[in-house]
Amino acid sequence: MQYEAFYRRSIAEPESFWGEQAELIHWQKKPERVLAYDRPPFRQWFSGGETNLCYNAVDRHLAQRADQAALLYLSTETGEEKRYTYAELHREVNRCAAVLQSLGVSRGERVVIYMPMIAEAIFCVLACARLGAVHSVVFGGFAAHNLALRIDDARPCLLICADAGMRAGKAVPYKHLVDEAIKEAKFPPAKVLIVDRGLDPDMRRVAGRDEDYWDLRDDFRDAEVPVTWLEANEPSYILYTSGTTGKPKGVQRDVGGYAVALAASMKYIYGANPGETMFTTSDIGWVVGHSYIIYGPLIHGMTTIVYEGLPIRPDPGIWWKIVEEHKVTTMFSSPTAIRVLKKQDPAWLKKYDLSSLRYLFLAGEPLDEPTSRWISEGLGVPVLDHYWQTETGWAMLTYLPGVELKPNRFGSPGFPAYGFNIKVVNELTTAECGPGEKGVLTVIPPLPPGCLTTVWGDDNRFVNSYFGQFEKELLYSSSDWAVRDEDGYFFILGRTDDVINTAGHRLGTREIEEALQAHPGIAEVAVVGLADELKGQVPVGFCTVKDPSRIADAAGRAQLEKECIDKVAELLGPVAKPHKLHFVTALPKTRSGKLLRRSIQALAEGRETGDLSTLDDPNALEEIRKAVGK
Ligand code: ATP
Ligand code: MG
Repeated sequence: MQYEAFYRRSIAEPESFWGEQAELIHWQKKPERVLAYDRPPFRQWFSGGETNLCYNAVDRHLAQRADQAALLYLSTETGEEKRYTYAELHREVNRCAAVLQSLGVSRGERVVIYMPMIAEAIFCVLACARLGAVHSVVFGGFAAHNLALRIDDARPCLLICADAGMRAGKAVPYKHLVDEAIKEAKFPPAKVLIVDRGLDPDMRRVAGRDEDYWDLRDDFRDAEVPVTWLEANEPSYILYTSGTTGKPKGVQRDVGGYAVALAASMKYIYGANPGETMFTTSDIGWVVGHSYIIYGPLIHGMTTIVYEGLPIRPDPGIWWKIVEEHKVTTMFSSPTAIRVLKKQDPAWLKKYDLSSLRYLFLAGEPLDEPTSRWISEGLGVPVLDHYWQTETGWAMLTYLPGVELKPNRFGSPGFPAYGFNIKVVNELTTAECGPGEKGVLTVIPPLPPGCLTTVWGDDNRFVNSYFGQFEKELLYSSSDWAVRDEDGYFFILGRTDDVINTAGHRLGTREIEEALQAHPGIAEVAVVGLADELKGQVPVGFCTVKDPSRIADAAGRAQLEKECIDKVAELLGPVAKPHKLHFVTALPKTRSGKLLRRSIQALAEGRETGDLSTLDDPNALEEIRKAVGK
């Protein structure tokens, strides 16, 4: 099948297209309508249909794959390795569902899950889905205040946590953060369920509130909990965006559309087959973890790898060792993680047999050309960038090896995914941009299955923040700045908030970052626009370097700065030249690894940093503060 025909049909005949895709999953009751779009921008997919995410991810495979591995749990932190077949996963999820039920969890109730990457976290997610409860997974290790905000947003009946996570060989206690968060919250859960890993000998329990998972699991050893069938549009979960551009938004997802979207994506986007193994290096706290550690591969009857650990421990070959040992066919990671590996000896990429690996997919941040080349040449495996958002739940721009794999173009996440009626528009006129013309990446609604149904508890925020940007036309704004080339390849140029207006030219931060990254001495870069009386705005860069000795003294720094600025002039022309480059040892990022440009810019302009609830390393921000002398 040719991509163009496939895509066009998905847009021209959405009902027949998605009606067919709906057959990829089990429906207890068939949908009455494929698409209902009577109240734009809200839309309903598969209304009247009844299904269940847990049934599709687990029970449905028992007939054919009971003894196939469903989940491999590998921790290089504790040294644990566990394998669960679909039959065993079914057993564990039933036990867990019975435990949750005994603590008052039922259809429509919310459960906050605050856990490290352990198999039990996945059992809890699936158990919620089985019971029709709405899970809100909060990235493990977020500060107590963030957890409290998310508790109040969800008003859960139960919070599930572990005693501790592990990072770089050290236990990171979680439970005391839960206690603090519950103290702060206005709508605390009645019960806390603790999966005690035995990592924190000082953990306290609150009598009457805290329950022990292992004890209760023993009580429900043989429990069978029937699946709760949900109408396709009932909520399945709440998940927050990364907070890169401001206060995180609580994305609400449905059941039926999400299941269909994931099932279809496994086939067309990932080109994966049931029985194969997928390794997604994200965390269950992010959308990539929800869609491609948990639900996607399981709905597709694959084996999913749940990995607790860093990419460089015990050594930088650990991921590739996992690929060899478990014959991983489909891998999914992020540019941020690859840039960590890039600081290591490339020989690690060649040490293991990667012949099972078909593709490495990357998403989450712009994939710069040097990194993309480094990893694809190093591995000898196609590396496919794809672009998506917490809101969409699956890729919006992508290569589609399961339909027709077009030649990869470095720096491009490919083409619009089927179902996304994508249009790059001029942000003032909403006129469609021609090839080579920069504009805002938008989607003409209705959004396809799998995308958010609303912002949890806040329909107005859903309408205003995603559909309120243009007066003339109802368009979903991705808040990203993009361009399409003559051949239809898309390129993301940065966030719309980050566009730099300099002397009448509009530049995406990404363009300048990419040019700086072309200098071999540079490891990571953030470019922001600073107010300038003469030019409106000027670009300023913050860089980390591969070899710190190059910036040990002022002369070295000046030399490197000049070389980098010349590089930008050479690649983009003098107008894009950064006004100044600062060299730092780390850049401030969100917990999900995204550059916090807005905070860098605020500091550089001497303003307040804004919402820092998702900031990973406060020292990195401090360094910026020092660098700009504010
Ligand atoms: P917030 O919405 O709270 O500001 P966020 O947008 O970073 O945070 P996510 O949903 O985690 O939250 O990230 C989606 C964003 O990540 C996209 O809008 C885009 O800016 C960026 N992104 C994701 N994949 C890619 C990619 N392949 N290339 C370029 N950018 C990407
Ligand atoms: Mg966003």
